[in-house]
Amino acid sequence: MSSRQSLDFPGAYVVNELDLDHWPQGTCSKLMVDLINDGLGRSLRLPVMVGRGNHPGPVLGLTAVLHGNELNGISVIHRLFETLDLQALRGTIVGVIVVNVPAYLNNERTFDDRTDMNHVMPGKANGNIAEIYAHRFLERIVRRFEYLIDLHTASFGNVNSLYVRADMTHEVTANMAYLQRPQIILHNSPSDRTLRGAAMEMGIPSITVEIGDPQVFQSRHIKASLSGVRRVMSDIGMLPRRPLGKGPLPVLCEQSIWLYADHGGLLKVLPKPTDLVQANDVIAQQRDIFGQVICEYRAPYDGIVIGKSVNPVAQTGSRILNLGAIATPNDHPFYRWIEDTASKAPSLEHLAVQ
Ligand SMILES: [Zn+2]
Repeated sequence: MSSRQSLDFPGAYVVNELDLDHWPQGTCSKLMVDLINDGLGRSLRLPVMVGRGNHPGPVLGLTAVLHGNELNGISVIHRLFETLDLQALRGTIVGVIVVNVPAYLNNERTFDDRTDMNHVMPGKANGNIAEIYAHRFLERIVRRFEYLIDLHTASFGNVNSLYVRADMTHEVTANMAYLQRPQIILHNSPSDRTLRGAAMEMGIPSITVEIGDPQVFQSRHIKASLSGVRRVMSDIGMLPRRPLGKGPLPVLCEQSIWLYADHGGLLKVLPKPTDLVQANDVIAQQRDIFGQVICEYRAPYDGIVIGKSVNPVAQTGSRILNLGAIATPNDHPFYRWIEDTASKAPSLEHLAVQ
């Protein structure tokens, strides 16, 4: 591994890969990790923080801004490092503050070439620019992790609850999701081409945390996510097992579907994230450009609103809302998690957002 001081960021080091043993125990390091070169030949580097505890232990990776306008995760990483007690910490915490640098610079979701980086993992050693970027990110950084929490938000024009996507049939990821104490947990097998899926393929238990809305810092959601990260750290032995506030119990969904508009026009989605809806409830109205109501959309089943569109301009195929089907304590492989939530959650009142 090569390492030299950064000229752009005092106290930071430019490296060509993440070699955790290079950095002494009990220290916190700021790194700029080389990934690709632009058309002038300049290096494009990822800002990474590495906190090595005084004692050996696991390596937990946090990744933010895989989609360039999903910013809440940056604050989660900053606040975690600000409050890190390296004397007490066991193992190493790695925060990749911005994964998708080109998209971050453009205030956009997608990479320079419009690729969605969460649809291109694990990339290719010899591929197009997004594929190489994805491949090197995994090989130079992610491969060092033993656990991964990937921090996202809703996409542009949508708002989300604070929710976690995780494989609830996988003992470790189910536990990580549960400890995160989001408003909603959505069971979701690690799908191909996502960072979570690619990391799971590498044997790294991974969950995705969706922290509210794009292009803003939302302090309440950030604080809740940070508490969740600390609960996971405590559970895997990185922090002393102090009793941490458990937080309200999440609602567990066995699946969800996005409902889409089948007309074009101005869309108004009625329920908020975390609202419960019943089958056949009207969940959205659409007007034509003259203001005439042209259709209503109804919920296909009972469920909870995970996220929704707030962009009135909707064409055929535009997203309306993400409707979660709440898991019931019957014949599911993750029965015990459902039981734990259903038996103790008195109501959904605590779920009110913003
Ligand atoms: Zn995202």
